[in-house]
Amino acid sequence: MSGEPTDCIFCQIVAGEIPATKVYEDDDVLAFLDIRPVSKGHTLVMPKAHFSDIFDAPPELLARIAQRIPLIAKAVQKAVDAEGLNIYQNNAAAAGQVVLHLHYHIIPRHAKDGALAPWSHVNYDEGEAQRTAERIAEHLDT
Ligand code: AMP
Ligand code: ZN
Repeated sequence: MSGEPTDCIFCQIVAGEIPATKVYEDDDVLAFLDIRPVSKGHTLVMPKAHFSDIFDAPPELLARIAQRIPLIAKAVQKAVDAEGLNIYQNNAAAAGQVVLHLHYHIIPRHAKDGALAPWSHVNYDEGEAQRTAERIAEHLDT
């Protein structure tokens, strides 16, 4: 655990030092509305304890968060009558993480809402996909 940095805004929300519109809370997990929602009902789900990302957090805690996400996501979806939703989780600035306290985005979606830009794509060279898969497999036990 990386400690509980006093400058972490999500730790400050857990401590009640800054306000949040909470939607779910238990001993380990807090969910609240994103202050700059991509769509109405955009909810953040996070551990109350400070971990910066999925590599920092113990797998058991990740499992507890994962157990809660369907419950919270279903409630969000029903509350805003969404037709679908995205679950996003950013790790590190290069991946778009701005708040360095592990959190998952639940983003309600409606058909053709254009809320999120379509993903770009790259192409593998000949044999590159297989080599990439082999490199990933090599690292699974590290
Ligand atoms: P990320 O880019 O994954 O780190 O996302 C951080 C998210 O936290 C953004 O969507 C912000 O709008 C949201 N956010 C930042 N500060 C607050 C806050 N005080 N209350 C609720 N959401 C916040
Ligand atoms: Zn924190």
